Amino acid sequence: MNILAFAEQRDGKFKKCAYEVVQAARRAADGLGGTLSVVVIGKNVTSIAPALGAYGATRVIALEDDRLERYSTTAYSKVFSDAAAKESPSVIFFPASQMGKDMAPRVSARLGAAIAADCTAFRIENGDVVATRPVYAGKALVEVKVTTAVKIFSLRPNVFTAAAVGGGAPPVVESVRPALSDADFAAKVTAVKVSEGRPDVTEAAIIVSGGRGLKAPENFKLVEDLADVLGAAVGASRAVVDAGWRPHDEQVGQTGKTVSPSLYIACGISGAVQHLAGMSSSKYIVAINKDKDAPIFQVADYGIAGDVFEILPALTGELKKALGK
Ligand code: FAD
Repeated sequence: MNILAFAEQRDGKFKKCAYEVVQAARRAADGLGGTLSVVVIGKNVTSIAPALGAYGATRVIALEDDRLERYSTTAYSKVFSDAAAKESPSVIFFPASQMGKDMAPRVSARLGAAIAADCTAFRIENGDVVATRPVYAGKALVEVKVTTAVKIFSLRPNVFTAAAVGGGAPPVVESVRPALSDADFAAKVTAVKVSEGRPDVTEAAIIVSGGRGLKAPENFKLVEDLADVLGAAVGASRAVVDAGWRPHDEQVGQTGKTVSPSLYIACGISGAVQHLAGMSSSKYIVAINKDKDAPIFQVADYGIAGDVFEILPALTGELKKALGK
């Protein structure tokens, strides 16, 4: 049985979710008694492929073309699907990252494979993958099996382990130039604006999020100050994004981004079900809210019932001292 995993890289560096997916796919391959092949797509990716060995990759297919330097929905989906058609995998793993969420459904359509998206766990049972997915905005978890011949699973970032295990032999890397024509690029990137400073909410280990309890956009300085001391991303509730206080790419929740950081600090956020849908799988949740009955406290590991305008400066000050900043 062949198992394929997609290892996401950008600018010649693997994303953390690449290691998570490779390690999870290794566990699946071992459990299913299958062979794991990892696919990497980009420019000069053969040179970075050996790094995947520490996470359980024994074979890497590096699909290389200078035109694949930047992500292209159509071209990446095509070259991955073509490689998959050759490898005839039974199971394919993607990250449920921005790129994975964009690519996996297209690959699924091209291969006629059903997909279980945004899985937070899986186990191997009777030679099959049984995956766990949050549904109804995270209110319930379902276990699913995929019944098509090719089965695709996308794995929620930051939920699966990515721990390098030393001593493994480097993987065999096969460098392949995929068949591509300019027509395979439906859109052309003409400029890239790199956001400075803070990490993106979907990739950050720590997120400090603010809601309507901050009262005004300029008060987000308190959230930003705490985020900067912790090297964290800044997140936001929809209420403040809709009000134009914060950009949409910071919105966490059902109609925003799904995040699973190690630490999520919710400041002046009530904890509406649509917000919880995007962050309840965070490892530790800290809530600061002046209403001790706010629903956010039901999911919080640590709660501070108090005023953000007092708590945030005090917390930032103490952390600065503790971290020597
Ligand atoms: P509020 O609910 O107004 O809460 C503000 C909180 O701040 C209160 O709990 C209050 O006690 C506290 N507070 C006030 N002053 C202070 C103070 N000085 N110190 C400390 N605490 C204070 N929401 C999202 O976040 N993300 C989504 O993706 C999303 N998608 C949605 C999709 C749909 C279809 C719908 C219908 C709604 C969606 N919502 C989403 C909106 C959601 O229902 C809530 O309206 C929103 O999350 C509320 O944002 P909030 O917690 O910032 O504001």
